[in-house]
Amino acid sequence: MTRVAFLGLGAIGAPMARHLAQPPYELAVWNRTAAKARTFAFAAGTGVRVAKSPADAARGAEFVLLCLPTSQDVDALLDGADGLLAGVARGTMVIDCTSGDPATSRRIAARLAAIGVDYIDAPVSGGTSGAEKGTLTVMCGGDASLFERATPVLRAFGEKIVLCGPTGSGDAVKAVNNALLAIHVWAAGEGLAALTKAGVSPAVALDVINSSSGMSRTTEKLIPERVLTRAFPRTFRLALLDKDVAIAAGVAREQKVPSPLLQLTSELFRVAHAMLGEEADHVEAIRAIEQWAGVEIK
Ligand code: NDP
Repeated sequence: MTRVAFLGLGAIGAPMARHLAQPPYELAVWNRTAAKARTFAFAAGTGVRVAKSPADAARGAEFVLLCLPTSQDVDALLDGADGLLAGVARGTMVIDCTSGDPATSRRIAARLAAIGVDYIDAPVSGGTSGAEKGTLTVMCGGDASLFERATPVLRAFGEKIVLCGPTGSGDAVKAVNNALLAIHVWAAGEGLAALTKAGVSPAVALDVINSSSGMSRTTEKLIPERVLTRAFPRTFRLALLDKDVAIAAGVAREQKVPSPLLQLTSELFRVAHAMLGEEADHVEAIRAIEQWAGVEIK
C-alpha cells in the first residue's frame, strides 16, 4: 500500500481524491472546512483517515497532493505547528494540483527542497466530469525523475500526463490554456449577443458555427448546454478563471511578450468576477455581456 494525503476537497479536489480512496492507496484527507472531509470519508466508506491538520495529513505519507484555489493558499499552509512542513518527512513528494502561479510554485519548491522534500506542480484540466471519470489531463513542472515517480499516482485520475518543463511550467501551460478558454467564452458571448439582437436564433447560429471554422469546445458544448438552457451549472468558479487569466497575462508580461489580448481578457474577467461574485460559474461571464447588451442568449 502507498500512503497518500490529499488536501483540498473542493469541486475538483474531491472527485480526484476519490480515485485514491482504494488500494493500492491508503488515503488521509484534510479540508479547511472539516465537515466536508468527514462527508467525503463517510461516502468513500473504505477507511479513509480524516486528518486534523495539514501536518497530521502529511505524517507518514509518501505523496502529499494539494488542490487549493491559489498558490498563495498552498504557501500559507506550509507554516506553523499544524502546517505541512511540520508533518512531512524527508523523501516525501508534494504534488501540487492547484492551478498555481509559476513564481510561487518555484518558491514553494525551494522551501521544500531545503528540508529534503520533493515538489512538482501538476495542475489539471478536464473539469469536474473529467475528475469523476479519471480522464483529466495533468500538466507537470519539475525534474524528469520526479515526474516519473509521480506518474503512477497521477494515473489514478489522469489520462494524459505530460511533463511540460522545469518547476512552474505546468502552471504556465495551465494558465495559457485557461486564458484561451476565457477568450473563447467571451468572444462567443459577444458574437451571439449581437446575432440574437439582429434576430438570429442563437441555436441556429451555433448550428452553423459548429460545422464551420469558428467552432470551439465552448460553442459545441458549454454554450448549448449551459447558456441556451439557462442552466449555468456551477462547476468551475469564475473567480478561479479570473485568477488563471491574470496568471497568463503575468507570464506574458514577465517574458516581455506584447500581449494586448491576454491583458484585455484578464481585465474583462476581473470586471465580470467583480460584477457576478465569488460563487458564479465561469460560463456566467456571458451574463455580464448579456447585461451590457440588454439581451439574453436563449
Ligand atoms: P473550490 O473553490 O471548489 O474548492 C477550493 C478548495 O480549497 C476547498 O476545499 C476549500 O476549502 C479549499 N480552500 C480554499 N481556500 C483555502 C485556504 N486559504 N486554505 C486552505 N484551504 C482552502 O475550487 P476547485 O476545487 O474548483 O479548484 C481547486 C483548484 O483546481 C483551483 O486552482 C482551480 O483553478 C483548479 N481547477 C478547477 C477545475 C474545476 O472544474 N473546478 C478544473 C481545473 C482546475 P473549504 O471547503 O473550506 O472552502
